Amino acid sequence: MTVLQKTIKNEISCVGIGLHSGAKVKLTLKPAAIDAGITFKRTDISGASATIAAHYDNVVDTRLCTCISDGKGHNISTIEHLMSALHGLGITNLNIEITGEEMPILDGSSADFVFLLHCAGIVEQQALAKMIRVKKPVTVKDGDAFITLLPARDNFGIDFTLDYAHCPTIGKDSLDFSLNCAAYENEIAPARTFGLAKEIEQIRNMGLAKGGSLKNVLIATNEGVMNPEGLRMKGEFVRHKVLDAIGDMYLAGYAIEGQIIASKSGHHLNDLLLKELFKNKANYEIVNSTLEDSFAPAKEWTESVAVGS
Ligand SMILES: [Zn+2]
Repeated sequence: MTVLQKTIKNEISCVGIGLHSGAKVKLTLKPAAIDAGITFKRTDISGASATIAAHYDNVVDTRLCTCISDGKGHNISTIEHLMSALHGLGITNLNIEITGEEMPILDGSSADFVFLLHCAGIVEQQALAKMIRVKKPVTVKDGDAFITLLPARDNFGIDFTLDYAHCPTIGKDSLDFSLNCAAYENEIAPARTFGLAKEIEQIRNMGLAKGGSLKNVLIATNEGVMNPEGLRMKGEFVRHKVLDAIGDMYLAGYAIEGQIIASKSGHHLNDLLLKELFKNKANYEIVNSTLEDSFAPAKEWTESVAVGS
């Protein structure tokens, strides 16, 4: 069996607000050619300079989200949830257009992006997908937080531990997730981004989270979550951390064959891990994908593609 490249069949758009900027933006996803990869384009700026490849080399800010830049002052931020959906569904080629500098947060998870991609139709392209095979362990640390990437066979896994000892509602939790399209949609994509009630004012003072509300962020207090509907699923906090890591790791340029072990990691360490991996050519090789178990199309979308084509 082989893994083929994938894009979407039809263009699709949505409108939403940025979590940090609060600005209303229109997002359009467009099919892309074989080997095009994932690219973001700011359509509110004229000229080709506003096209940015979804690549770790272009990451410029990881304070509270992952932000990429063309190096000329044109940024696109909070890309990680869409990147996660693309990684989770095995989409390798896509042109993403945005009318502002921050992606729409939608409901704070990647479920709406998964829905949009399915509405557009996911199609295989007649070219083999590539992957990055990890050959040597790579680790980066920051205090007691760390993230390690180990060699693994025919799989991409994330074993993540989060520890919010100072907030009992989140507490300590861990999840060992093996990437697979159906499991991603059901177990990871619905998990929303979260924050601590006591940190909101500080984040707002940094000029961030202007678009945040209980409709798109889980807010935790010591007593529980402020969102009236409560948690969507058990372990929603750690599932969101896995969602973010799946998105950040896709900035490698291809899916990864490897196993991540992480504790208290976030966008900053995720970014440093990729930079460390690619620093030394002995750490990895780029080969045809053997991740059939991760990216085999789920039965229902194989059928919907057959009907539509
Ligand atoms: Zn997130």
